Amino acid sequence: MKSQISKLSAYQPGLSPEKLKEKYGIEGELHKHASNENLFGPSPKAKQAIKDHVDDLFLYPEPNAPLLQEAIAAHYGVDKAQVLFGAGLDEMIVIISRTLVRAGDNIVTSAGTFGQYLHNAVVEDAETIQVPLIDGAFDLDGIAAAVNDKTAAVWICNPNNPTGTYHTHDDIVAFLEKVPSHIPVFMDEAYAEYVTAEDYPKTLELMKQYGNVALMRTFSKAYGLAGLRIGYLISTPELAAQLNVIRPPFNTTRLSEQAALKALEDQEYLQQIVETNRVEREKFLNLETSLKIYPSQTNFVFVETDRAKELDETLLRHGIIARLFPNGIRISLGFPEQNEVIRNVLKSF
Ligand SMILES: *Cc1c(COP(=O)(O)O)cnc(C)c1O
Repeated sequence: MKSQISKLSAYQPGLSPEKLKEKYGIEGELHKHASNENLFGPSPKAKQAIKDHVDDLFLYPEPNAPLLQEAIAAHYGVDKAQVLFGAGLDEMIVIISRTLVRAGDNIVTSAGTFGQYLHNAVVEDAETIQVPLIDGAFDLDGIAAAVNDKTAAVWICNPNNPTGTYHTHDDIVAFLEKVPSHIPVFMDEAYAEYVTAEDYPKTLELMKQYGNVALMRTFSKAYGLAGLRIGYLISTPELAAQLNVIRPPFNTTRLSEQAALKALEDQEYLQQIVETNRVEREKFLNLETSLKIYPSQTNFVFVETDRAKELDETLLRHGIIARLFPNGIRISLGFPEQNEVIRNVLKSF
């Protein structure tokens, strides 16, 4: 085994609802609000697409989902040679790390963000430079200052998971001005569809000016297809072609391609999801509580508290599974009824 792998552990999912019920002696239903899934599920048209294509299951998929590649290219007005698919962004991060990050290189990101950037850098025997968050947000100046000759990739999660905070278009422009133009910058926009702030970056426009920027999006979050595993990168055709060498030939599936096509087509459904989420999110952000809730542009909120474990267990006793962090908890928003239960717990905690 590569020695650096002993520094890592396998991903630990939270306990299942059944296990949690047992552990805490809970009688009623438990609702999962721990993984930022879209609890409303995908467009009905996406579900129908799966039924319509079930007879094709014996066939290998077409490499790099060509129908979806055309559709994404048309949706964003980019060339299809710029679009690459992964079995979720998780796999895209593996592909990028495997292609770009060499032993002895470093990657730069924030200390309080999505863990897979670091995990995969360690697998490649690279250093991880983690710049602390400032009030739940990426310290973009700190990150730009940390970039050096050995930096193979910079990862920016915008909005950030787990805090939900975002940076504006102008913030990102100012940041990119400071990063040398040969250092690749990956903008992980897994929650972009949920963003309603008007000053959110137009990353595709930035890519025209900054050739080192690449964009990552997924069907797992607002599109509600986390169980199918499909996400994508939009970059220069040159980078997409390099990464395509490492992409396993049949990494996505026929069903994920077909379902994602229909989910993408059904923008009306997506807009309903986004609007419902926005209304619910506002109620959390306006909540009267002494707890600190970071301003979120996503489908989750992060509640900062030094009594995180106690808050987590209180929610569990009210039937809500949240995600525990050392300095707080992250709660995915769902149906209004459960959201209200959550808010009442936060108010009285
Ligand atoms: C959920 C998430 C991902 C991974 O999403 P998949 O496409 O399901 O693999 C990547 N980045 C961030 C920030 C996420 O929250």
